[in-house]
Amino acid sequence: MAGTALRGRLTWQEATVAEVITETATARTIELSVPDWAGHKAGQHLDVRLTAEDGYSAERSYSIASAPGEPVAITVQRLEDGEVSPYLTDDLRPGDELELRGPIGGYFIWDGEPEPVLLLAGGSGVVPLRAMLRHRQRIVSSTPARLVYSARSLADVIYRSELDGYGTEVIYTLTKQQPPGWTGHVGRVNAALLGEVAWLPDQHPIAFVCGPTAFVEAVAEGLVMLGYPPGRVKTERFGGAGG
Ligand SMILES: Cc1cc2nc3c(=O)[nH]c(=O)nc-3n(C[C@H](O)[C@H](O)[C@H](O)COP(=O)(O)OP(=O)(O)OC[C@H]3O[C@@H](n4cnc5c(N)ncnc54)[C@H](O)[C@@H]3O)c2cc1C
Repeated sequence: MAGTALRGRLTWQEATVAEVITETATARTIELSVPDWAGHKAGQHLDVRLTAEDGYSAERSYSIASAPGEPVAITVQRLEDGEVSPYLTDDLRPGDELELRGPIGGYFIWDGEPEPVLLLAGGSGVVPLRAMLRHRQRIVSSTPARLVYSARSLADVIYRSELDGYGTEVIYTLTKQQPPGWTGHVGRVNAALLGEVAWLPDQHPIAFVCGPTAFVEAVAEGLVMLGYPPGRVKTERFGGAGG
């Protein structure tokens, strides 16, 4: 049994696109049908491999956007000068096939533990945190949870109506553009914002920080400065310069 699950994770398998959902002007959720999927936990990711007719292939990692027990889904943010993401967001159609392997990752996982959970997302870093919130909803968990989501503008917020419907506190901070009358936070997540939203270390919170590398490093450092033990600040870096 364990052998089968391990083989499933390490082996490339064919997946079929079941649905493509437009989340924002540049982000799409791709729901996949994967016949031999071994199941996943909230926070894990998978690898996608695309192979051109001339045999050239490219691999990228994507967080799993769906909760454990739901069909596998990923949400991809298109990078204008990117090699893989424009294909995934613009060209994929239901019925298309791609190769993937997973689930991958044993550290950046939320399994329903009772301690307060602070989720901090930069841009598409919200994807695995969304899987955690969906999981929390599905298991009817009473774990206190709070999401801080840094996006360029309100139009760039992925899953907005879903996030606002959980009854969980969601704190947006808009870095580049704010709508008229915006009374929420502006600019990058900084020490002042962290001080406002973070549970005190003596409440034994756990933090999950995900997004561009520079975002993750700044936020994780800020939480450690507030007294969070480094082991209670789990990080997932998507790469790139920041955002
Ligand atoms: C564990 C993990 C999980 C990930 N999950 C997701 C996810 O859920 N959704 C998602 O959209 N992406 C995710 N990524 C990022 C993804 O793997 C690709 O890096 C991204 O789609 C860009 O690939 P590309 O081929 O389009 O761009 P590339 O051709 O690889 O890069 C184009 C340019 O963009 C820069 N760049 C690369 N990545 C980023 C980034 N994240 N932000 C800003 N600039 C960048 C590069 O430095 C380069 O200049 C994840 C990465 C990791 C490691």
